[in-house]
Amino acid sequence: MALSINVDRMAGIRTPFYYYDTNILRQTLDAINTETKKYDKYFVHYAVKANANMKVLKVINEAGLGIDCVSGGEIEQALAAGFPANKIVFAGVGKSDWEIELGLDKDIFCFNVESIPELEIINEIAAQKGKVATVCFRINPNVGAHTHAHITTGLAENKFGIDMKDMEKVIQQAQSMTNVQFKGLHFHIGSQILEMDDFIALAERINELQDRLESEGIHLEIINVGGGLGIDYKEPQTHTIPNFKDYFATYHQHLKLRPGQTVHFELGRAVVAQCGALITKVNFVKEGSVKKFAIVDAGFTDLIRPALYDAHHKIINLTSTTTETDTYDVVGPICESSDVFDKDIQLPKTQRGDLLAILSAGAYGEIMASCYNCRPLPKGYISEEIQN
Ligand SMILES: *Cc1c(COP(=O)(O)O)cnc(C)c1O
Repeated sequence: MALSINVDRMAGIRTPFYYYDTNILRQTLDAINTETKKYDKYFVHYAVKANANMKVLKVINEAGLGIDCVSGGEIEQALAAGFPANKIVFAGVGKSDWEIELGLDKDIFCFNVESIPELEIINEIAAQKGKVATVCFRINPNVGAHTHAHITTGLAENKFGIDMKDMEKVIQQAQSMTNVQFKGLHFHIGSQILEMDDFIALAERINELQDRLESEGIHLEIINVGGGLGIDYKEPQTHTIPNFKDYFATYHQHLKLRPGQTVHFELGRAVVAQCGALITKVNFVKEGSVKKFAIVDAGFTDLIRPALYDAHHKIINLTSTTTETDTYDVVGPICESSDVFDKDIQLPKTQRGDLLAILSAGAYGEIMASCYNCRPLPKGYISEEIQN
């Protein structure tokens, strides 16, 4: 089922704006719940950094997912959306004191700790509050992911996590502290990963690390494998729901669990990307000497992925009625040459006033918007607000 967009109902809304089809979102969440129910003790925490729109968060909370935060602001947003604190996991290489305090005050499920200095500060602040913080260590598994270099995170050269060679040492250190309780390990190797082999490599690495820990008499309760499952940006209308079946089955098949362990996932993009589109109006069609430009009112301030990661988003014309097509560069109004959504794409003959939808924009879209050029931030609407 593809995104359903009712253009007539969008008439009064100022462009550009984000549109979220909650039918697609609910179907995606159902698919996740159907797959995780097949396995004992699999828990999905939605990675709120992909999209923190309050209306979207409420739908995700209704489906019963937990939440993965990487800042104090995200913890506040998650709580405001109704997520219970005991389903919050909190990662990040550079947690500030106030963020640690917030996590402790709210009694979140787990801090994913990325260094010894961070562990010491959590222990210290928890002691001041007379609390015990549940911690997992984020381990850098040195597993590469077949994805864009900017979004691979699990290589030794990346800033994230604790080196594998230091694993026993940091765990023993945590076990000697009075105000932290060590519960398990956390990993996250990157984003937009479509090769199941990458997840297999991570599962196998976790198995090795568990064997090592077992020989030291260290037991883990929590295995958190992070997120990173990719989506189909090329054919979003036919591949709308990501392949959750293979994703969870891959971990089930390759991850060797010990009795009593729970497995935690932190999916962001796969949950929200396909339910969202950036709706933009064509301001001008300009014919250059070698190109035709469809100049739209959205720019990289609204959706930065193409400029930042060379990302591809499928673009469709929502209003053109002709069967004739032409070739366009779809560009924004911002004073930077990188403000291009796509080059040399075929669209139905496009004219001033046409509405375009930039698809698969539900993840890392609205949340990364900026005010550069003093542009207003794009608003986000869910389908209920537009179709009814
Ligand atoms: C970004 C992030 C995620 C989510 O990644 P997706 O590719 O959107 O699934 C999960 N865990 C951590 C720690 C992250 O930083």
